[in-house]
Parts: sequence; structure tokens; C-alpha cells
Amino acid sequence: MTAPFSWIRPEPWGIHIVPADAWVDPARAVPRALVTHGHADHARGGHGITIATPETLAIMKLRYATAEGAQPVAYGETVSIGGGVTATYLPAGHVLGSSQILFEHAGERVVITGDYKRVPDPTCAPFQVTPCDIFITEATFGLPVFTHPPIGEEIGKLLDARAENPDACVLVGAYALGKAQRVIAELRATGHTDTIWLHGAMEAMCRLYEEHGVALGDLKLVSDATKDDMRGHIVIAPPSALNDRGSRRLPDPITAMASGWMRVRARARQRGVELPLVISDHADWNELTRTIREVNPQETWITHGREQALLRWCELSQRRARALALVGYEDEDD
Ligand SMILES: [Zn+2]
Ligand SMILES: [Zn+2]
Repeated sequence: MTAPFSWIRPEPWGIHIVPADAWVDPARAVPRALVTHGHADHARGGHGITIATPETLAIMKLRYATAEGAQPVAYGETVSIGGGVTATYLPAGHVLGSSQILFEHAGERVVITGDYKRVPDPTCAPFQVTPCDIFITEATFGLPVFTHPPIGEEIGKLLDARAENPDACVLVGAYALGKAQRVIAELRATGHTDTIWLHGAMEAMCRLYEEHGVALGDLKLVSDATKDDMRGHIVIAPPSALNDRGSRRLPDPITAMASGWMRVRARARQRGVELPLVISDHADWNELTRTIREVNPQETWITHGREQALLRWCELSQRRARALALVGYEDEDD
């Protein structure tokens, strides 16, 4: 008889599933990794065996050229990972292929969320509330000040800016994995059928989404356009390209950025963003607290962001909680 939950051990570089000698989203190369999703702070190349959803494995193959040792697991599928531990992959609603992982061992259930959100996203399967004993949640936006507005409002601002400036283009900075495709799919959902122009760095990931059944409509590359082609249009580029030389090819761009951090005015100003769009693929404060209430675990472990405020909220709601000190998790994917 071992101590309860001694089989799951948070280390600074990842969560160790001890009896199986496997790691969740490890920050260094390991013999066996279970990966929740394709963002760079969770998925790294060089593992011996990588267990993940087929979509995440496809993203990792594209980004990190890790084709070897790939072991696909579909949503809802349970696999034995050795040492009497099973892992079940469940949708997290964060980006294409993103998953929570439910671990079961000796009658104990632990869910690791990876990154997640609760609002609908046309590019990925919705988060599934799963009962468990220990719930390990991210807390990227774990402060009460972070409330994300409905995405329809933000997409409306983008469309208005475009309509008001027919001779210019609106250049939207968006992360290449997840945010870019979600913004495009939400634009399409409003009936926007015009060509959307893409920075070259977005092309492969958009194609991968389409191959996995996410229709993105008419996309063309900025490098194939003249200035006049792009007037009155929307252009999507990685945040790093917002102010670079390439944007001089564009017709008088109005600079926008889609990120949860756009709630913080100083961040928008710092990046020279004229049109901040508060669009996040992470749960905001209300989604985090609602999710903990709905999952209703015996214990909540908090990681990956602003742990202290959520820890305090748990204490005030008479919920057992602890903050984990994992390293290497940056907001590539906000
Ligand atoms: Zn993350
Ligand atoms: Zn992420």
C-alpha cells in the first residue's frame, strides 16, 4: 500500500507518472512523453515515444519533425501506459487536437488539463468536464481582472475597421497555431467570404487544419499579392511580423493583434497595436473558477500562470489546493 497519489509527482520540468516512468508535457527530452497539445511550451521534439492525439502528432511532425516513436490516441480512448496506469485523452477546447489527460491508478483519478478554454471554438472539440480526485489546471489568466469578451464583439471590431478603411488593410497579429485559424473560422462564420491574405509563416498550419476538416475558405499568400489586391482586406501574420520589413509591402496597414493580453493596454501600446482584439484560447477567471466548481475535485493543483489568486479563491471556497512550480511554460499561445 503506497501513500495516496504518490504515483503522480510534479517536478520543475514536467509531471512524472512514476509507476509508468512517463512524463506529461516535459520541458526536456525523455524516453516517454504524453503531450497535451502542439504549442511549443508543451510539445518538444526529441522524446523517445510521444503519446498524443493524431492531430497533435501531426502538428509536432510539422513543427519539430518528430515523426518517430509517435503513438496516436483518439479522444475518449484509454491506453495502458504500464505500471498499472491508464491514460484517457479528452478534449480541452484549446486548439486543434488539444487534450486533457485522465490518469487512473489504484482507484485514484487525476486529470491534467494542459491549456483549455470553455467557450465554443469552431476549430476544435469542446472541453469535457470529467470527474476526478485531483484536477491539475492551468491558470494563464488566473486573475479576476481577466475576463474575455464574447469573440463576436471582437470579430465585429475587426470587420468594422476593414469597412471603414477601404483603401487600407487590417493586419492582424495572431499565433500561427490555433489563434490564426480560430480568427479566420470566426470571420467565415459571420459570412465573410473575401480572400484572407496570409503571411508565409501561417500557410502550413492553416493547411494542416484544413486537412483535419477545419474549412478556412479562400486564403492566399501576401507574397503573391500586389498592394492593390490587399486594399480593404484582412491580412494575418505572426505577432513577430507585425512591425517588420515585410509589412511595408502592405497598403497602409492598420495594426491589430488577437490575444488575451490585449486586455492590458500597456501590452497593446508596447507592441504598437492600434486595434487590440481580446481573443484568447485560455480560460479566463470566470471559466477557471466555474470549471473547478463543475469538476469538483478533492484537490486542485494549479500551474502555468498566475497561481496565487486562484489558490486564494480555492481556499476561500473551502477547496484544497496547491500551486505547482513548473518551469519553461511561456505564453506562446495566449
Ligand atoms: Zn501553455
Ligand atoms: Zn497552449
